[in-house]
Amino acid sequence: MNKPVRAIEGKCLHYNGTLKNDACDAGVNYNELKGDATGPLLYVLPCFGRAMKCEKPCAKRSLPTLEQVNAWKQYTQQRLACTLEAISKIQEQNKLDKAGFGTITCPSCKGNLQYSISSYNGHVHGQCKTEGCLQWMQ
Ligand SMILES: [Zn+2]
Repeated sequence: MNKPVRAIEGKCLHYNGTLKNDACDAGVNYNELKGDATGPLLYVLPCFGRAMKCEKPCAKRSLPTLEQVNAWKQYTQQRLACTLEAISKIQEQNKLDKAGFGTITCPSCKGNLQYSISSYNGHVHGQCKTEGCLQWMQ
């Protein structure tokens, strides 16, 4: 399954987070957009359908379609199901070992998925060798 656009209902498609970025993917500076509005950026930016307290509406605001939102939901649910399947396979293979590492066939792309099991808490970490495929840390 190809990765669809990250589409969340009511959230602008250009929003890329305010902690690591000064501007969205469309080049709009968050602080300039906020202007004199008071409060945390997340509550005053027009990037979210629920906010809209911003005095300067964003001309580049682009909300996802219902089809885009549904495609993203389907993609994330499929990825989560594959991750849970991988963890289950790994735990089944390592019933007696408290810690270890190895590889299994990736349930998503059938490539090589490397994993490790923590000796401290038994949590499973995994990463598929295929770029952009499964990767998690329990
Ligand atoms: Zn994979």
